Amino acid sequence: MKLTITNLSKTYSNGVRALHDVSLTIPQGMFGLLGPNGAGKSSLMRTIATLQEADHGQIVLEETPAGTIDVLRQKHDVRKLLGYLPQEFGVYPKVTAETMLDHIASLKGIANRAERKTVVEALLEKVNLAHVRKKNLGTFSGGMKQRFGIAQALIGNPSLIIVDEPTAGLDPAERNRFHNLLSEIGENTIVILSTHIVEDVTNLCSAMAIINLGEVIAEGHPAGLVADIQGKIWRKTIEKVELDAFRNDYQVISTQLKAGKTQIHIYSETQPLDFEPVEADLEDVYFSKITATKKTAVVA
Ligand code: ADP
Repeated sequence: MKLTITNLSKTYSNGVRALHDVSLTIPQGMFGLLGPNGAGKSSLMRTIATLQEADHGQIVLEETPAGTIDVLRQKHDVRKLLGYLPQEFGVYPKVTAETMLDHIASLKGIANRAERKTVVEALLEKVNLAHVRKKNLGTFSGGMKQRFGIAQALIGNPSLIIVDEPTAGLDPAERNRFHNLLSEIGENTIVILSTHIVEDVTNLCSAMAIINLGEVIAEGHPAGLVADIQGKIWRKTIEKVELDAFRNDYQVISTQLKAGKTQIHIYSETQPLDFEPVEADLEDVYFSKITATKKTAVVA
């Protein structure tokens, strides 16, 4: 299976241009869509999930059991193979996990009660919520709610799974558990993980894209994108008051407070005087791409 997005654009009625000529190829496996808040990630996720219209462009899902699907037109066909965990996943607080999953399973077309029971039990085990299946959803922690969200998204064995900002607000242990769960999802599926947290992509994704201000600014394999900037990231420890001056002279991509001093990373093709080389990682990729687009935006 393969999802191909071509020249997708969307401007909301208030004039905000959320997506501008977005083209992306999303292969099978875990795909990370990384970008800051407001980048357009949710707009793209909702469009793929058939919940909102695009102004123009095309989305095609190839090699599905139902053949090639034109996502923007064959919404019904998409929904049959879609599992979606939205950014704002509301739960009914006074309903138990088991009852809610059973209800969603019946909405998704599993009419047979015994079959539903089997599906619901298996999913509760999978997301490690079997022991709290009789508890009301309102009593769940953030991490438990997200795992419940994944359980409902997995009903019906979807082959296209979209999870929008799933780890925002989770503590490190909960995030870890959630990562493990996502990485267990079958190999014959496309999982699109939208996030502003670089670590989510580093840990999980074999392919990725970075989106900012509605545009795709990088696309590839995480390791390949890191390799591209290797040897171009430099570090220096400065006084905080010097920061503005360094920002004027260099492409400062990140700053970190260390023992009262400020450590900066910059992007530069050649080694600047008094900077030392840094082994680049995906954070450096992300911030170098984002700061480069910001610079261009300011110049324009
Ligand atoms: P992200 O998921 O990356 O945070 P969004 O897709 O939610 O980004 O938002 C992209 C831009 O579109 C933002 O500027 C946001 O304020 C705007 N936006 C999102 N949804 C709507 C909407 N329904 N109406 C108007 N503007 C919207």
